[in-house]
Amino acid sequence: MAVMTDELGIRRGHALRAAVERGLIDEREPVVGLLDITGIEDSATALHAAFATPGVEITHTFAVKAASLVPVLALLGECGLGAEVASPGEMALARAAGIPADRIVLDSPAKTRAELREALTLGVAVNADNPQELERIDALRADAGSASPVGLRVNPQIGAGSIGAMSTATATSKFGVALRDPGAEEWVLRAYAGRPWMNRLHTHTGSQGVPLELMVAGVRAAYELAERINAAAGRRQVTVLDIGGGLPVNFDSDAVTPSYAEYADLLRAEVPGLFDGRYGLVTEFGRSMLAKNGTVLARVEYAKSAGGRPIAVTHAGAQVATRTVFVPDAWPLRVLALDAKGREKAGEPVVQDVAGPCCFAGDLVAKGRPLPLLESGDHVALLDTGAYYFSNHFAYNSLPRPAVLGYTALPDGTVEFTPVRTAQSEAELIAESGGGLPPLRRASR
Ligand SMILES: *Cc1c(COP(=O)(O)O)cnc(C)c1O
Repeated sequence: MAVMTDELGIRRGHALRAAVERGLIDEREPVVGLLDITGIEDSATALHAAFATPGVEITHTFAVKAASLVPVLALLGECGLGAEVASPGEMALARAAGIPADRIVLDSPAKTRAELREALTLGVAVNADNPQELERIDALRADAGSASPVGLRVNPQIGAGSIGAMSTATATSKFGVALRDPGAEEWVLRAYAGRPWMNRLHTHTGSQGVPLELMVAGVRAAYELAERINAAAGRRQVTVLDIGGGLPVNFDSDAVTPSYAEYADLLRAEVPGLFDGRYGLVTEFGRSMLAKNGTVLARVEYAKSAGGRPIAVTHAGAQVATRTVFVPDAWPLRVLALDAKGREKAGEPVVQDVAGPCCFAGDLVAKGRPLPLLESGDHVALLDTGAYYFSNHFAYNSLPRPAVLGYTALPDGTVEFTPVRTAQSEAELIAESGGGLPPLRRASR
């Protein structure tokens, strides 16, 4: 692992320099997202290797919300992954990327009838969130028939990790059937008994901030429930366990920790029945696949000072680093200070703020951070931003979605860029903001 992570930093350094040298970031496009194609492939390889078990059929899906970029989904598809989708838009992206229906899982908590009908018609797997949704599925299946595997999402209510908003297995989480509520398990057993075609069980304990032990406890609860469902049914009714995603990412260094192997090994030790061949497995990792393979590169427009605090005003703020700006304590990012040529700056660290371009005071990606003093014309790199950052744009101030470039970087410094997404144009911005529609008329009264 260590070797791989060193290489990650070296490739990133080559790519940052090359992007600046080749003018891929300039006045017109002062912020850009970069994705390490080799790193993404390495993530996929590590995932497959960690879980591979003779006699166990495993479908690894990628949680589309973590990086909703069609070429990335297509690359992951080529690496053997499927897609976990949670909206009609994500379903459309997965299909546009050529992900086959039998490798797509639909998981949203608010699926409409139309969404369910589409999924059931395509043969996409559906995890029902609640009893009302399951009744809709009953009716739709009766109408049209369907080859879709259907499961139920359960919330083992085992508690929160360190970030409340990311914790889905709390007592009052909005997701899934709350298993420890009075009568819930009896209802689950009846639900399966009355639906012999329901053959999956799903849980996802949370994202970032949930320790491995808690994730394992969530999976164990789902596994044990599947055993009880099957015992009650007198046959192997539940044949596939969907264990969700949620592997946390280390935002402090380039080290990939915890690794997929650590998580899979812990699962093997703590829930051995998961791997004995009686169940197929589905996983839904997002952040851990992409985070360390992405970097935001932005120009420093101005360097100023206020109240004795140096402030670098850059083009990377809340529009690309939304969570970091709004919830900075939960989502701190490493920031690299780069010079005008995209090389890491040397120099004594100076405590400074790194600000974004948005018009509100809190638009800072780093506050009071010791870094070589940034100057106008320099650059900054926000590290580990491949998941849930530049791929989840926030349209504040009508700042355009930045371009995203994939890169490969060889040890000799040869870098090749491939477009993943073009920057949003002014015309697109205007159209998306109602441009072209007639002006509102004054109301007559
Ligand atoms: C968000 C989500 C995931 C992915 O979580 P990561 O922390 O990005 O791995 C997987 N499954 C479900 C149901 C989710 O909501």
